[in-house]
Amino acid sequence: MGTRPVELFYLFGDLSNLSGIGPKTIINLKNLSIERPRDFLFNLPFSVLDRLPVDSVRGVTASQIVTVEVLVKAHKVGRSRASAYRVNVQDTEVSFQLVFFNARKEYLEGLLPVGERRVISGKLEFYDEIPQIVHPHHIKKINDEKAIVRFEPIYSLTSGVSQKLMFGTINGLLESLPKLDEWIDHKLLKLKGWPSWQDALKRAHCPETANGASSTDPARQRLAFDELFSHQLSLSIARNRIKQSKGKVNTGTGILQTKVLNNLPFKFTEDQKLSIKDILDDLKKPERMNRLLQGDVGSGKTIVAFLGLISAVEAGGQGALMAPTEILARQHFETLLPLAETAGVRLSLLTGRDKGNLRNNKLTDLKEGKTDLVIGTHALFQADVVFKDLRFAVVDEQHRFGVNQRLELGKKGNVVDLLIMTATPIPRSLALAQYGDMDISIIKQKPPGRKPINTALVSSARIDEVVDKLKKSIDKGGQAYWVCPLIEESEILHYTAAERRFEQLRAKLGEGVVELVHGKMSSEIKDKIMDRFVSGNTKLLVATTVIEVGVNVPSANIMVVENAEKFGLAQLHQLRGRVGRGSNQSTCLLLYKEPLNTSSRKRLSIMRETEDGFKISEVDLNLRGSGDAIGTAQSGLPRFRMANIDIIEMLMETAHQQARYLLAKDPNLETLQGKAARNLLWLMDQDKSIQLITVG
Ligand code: ADP
Ligand code: MG
Repeated sequence: MGTRPVELFYLFGDLSNLSGIGPKTIINLKNLSIERPRDFLFNLPFSVLDRLPVDSVRGVTASQIVTVEVLVKAHKVGRSRASAYRVNVQDTEVSFQLVFFNARKEYLEGLLPVGERRVISGKLEFYDEIPQIVHPHHIKKINDEKAIVRFEPIYSLTSGVSQKLMFGTINGLLESLPKLDEWIDHKLLKLKGWPSWQDALKRAHCPETANGASSTDPARQRLAFDELFSHQLSLSIARNRIKQSKGKVNTGTGILQTKVLNNLPFKFTEDQKLSIKDILDDLKKPERMNRLLQGDVGSGKTIVAFLGLISAVEAGGQGALMAPTEILARQHFETLLPLAETAGVRLSLLTGRDKGNLRNNKLTDLKEGKTDLVIGTHALFQADVVFKDLRFAVVDEQHRFGVNQRLELGKKGNVVDLLIMTATPIPRSLALAQYGDMDISIIKQKPPGRKPINTALVSSARIDEVVDKLKKSIDKGGQAYWVCPLIEESEILHYTAAERRFEQLRAKLGEGVVELVHGKMSSEIKDKIMDRFVSGNTKLLVATTVIEVGVNVPSANIMVVENAEKFGLAQLHQLRGRVGRGSNQSTCLLLYKEPLNTSSRKRLSIMRETEDGFKISEVDLNLRGSGDAIGTAQSGLPRFRMANIDIIEMLMETAHQQARYLLAKDPNLETLQGKAARNLLWLMDQDKSIQLITVG
């Protein structure tokens, strides 16, 4: 089953096989991501036009699209070619006019011969109370009127690709759809009242109601579900693959954990306790752990992971914690070292900075098992880093990690349990889309006693007041971040804007107090600048790109974001999470450029109303609305063609369950439904997953 089924060849063939599609059109179609016949079918209409059939236009309201049969009475040529050319027509009750501009007389006389009947479809308008249709969409002879459909699907188009071409090509394809067995569970299909795949495609492209393009339409839902289901199947197959490779049973004694717990100055939150239990349970299982720990900034993920790491040491193995940057690695090391020492656990730090003998010694210690736990950067996964017995690896703040990278990491040879930590709070439907191959633990509550952050929206016209406030706070020993706007059109503009702001602020606040950090700097320079900020030498950090995720500078208590309206809510939430980590009151100032439109105001107001990242991401999702297919814009998420956000929210969970259910009873997809599901994977370009099963 390693090759595409014959029935599907046609759908994956060349576009040039389709009639009416030449080389130029093929290039234009790329703009719509249409590269094969299949893509036409998956390019669903975004709305449906109701061409109301009427006997007469009498009584019809303006702007209604109507289809009406008429008798052609007379042609009235305009004074010039640019002025209106009118054709008087008569329906069963009234006379009205068809109006054309820049029309050729001979052409129109051929199209609408006086004394003959025609079926017309177009938008009804009134001019001096006389009904008229300007440039009718359709003019058909009596026996050809079937070409005018009542409910016309409206497609996204691009230059050189007309509605007519789209409609015609898709209708042609619909006539020769391959017959495929059903891959959706029959019970679910019945429960939802969904049509078969073939019927769903026909109905989606030839809607039977004006609601045909809405998220509640059964045909549309079914097709979107297919997409989500195949996505979840791929993730589940990847998951099974990881689980199949045997893990070790890592049963901790609890002795070292108790020592750590006795030295913790706080009590765990309920969510932390549950997450720790999930992790310890996974460690004990003979299968490999593949878990995501999701928790808002400051929810206390690190200590949760640390207990897992300690448990791996108790079981006689080693553990590793990987951070995305040097600074974060060092911060983790400094906070965890005292705890490790109380438990007598040997903890070391390995980053790109370690060179020569120092690095060699650290490597030897790891290899000989003299080091129990290691914290580091990507450097940890280099070829020369050899563990004596690595059992548990934790990857922190790696939201850039996709499924494929997770698979790569799993292949590293070591039979390790894997925990990934992310601080991006996303609704469950999206978490499943992104991490459906993993088991998920969520820390929702924050530790008690956190001071709420003061969030204010400030017009950028008042920037001078903001700077004054900043100066006062810095004089009192505070530290602050200043995030400059993102200018998408031009990176250079972006940097110059940031540099200009940096110079202005430096002029106001004084030399040596302010530093600028941006994405174009080498990581060594960035690290040095961050270091000076962390140690308190620098008071104000001006930054262009998102400031290092997860950096902890407790004395930083002001966050200024310029042009906040340009940022995503999730991003603003992450940025705000940089402050409010210490004992003094923190402030987040969201500067905006006036005028602020209603939706931007709404979005920014949410930031003022809540600090709950999950709530913010839900509101964000709803505000973006159903029109927004989740795309590459939100990094890490797959691109869906047919499923919009509404449907993802409605059906992702079901798709997830169905995929796991099918693979549990039929891991190699060999039953009738399983084989059908293989066709689905082929159809959806998820055939890499099929290779995973076949190879396995
Ligand atoms: P994040 O989830 O953002 O990685 P951290 O693990 O860095 O959060 O924790 C943030 C801070 O909260 C740390 O200083 C940590 O010691 C502290 N912390 C963690 N859990 C608790 C708790 N249950 N009660 C009080 N403070 C806690
Ligand atoms: Mg963290």
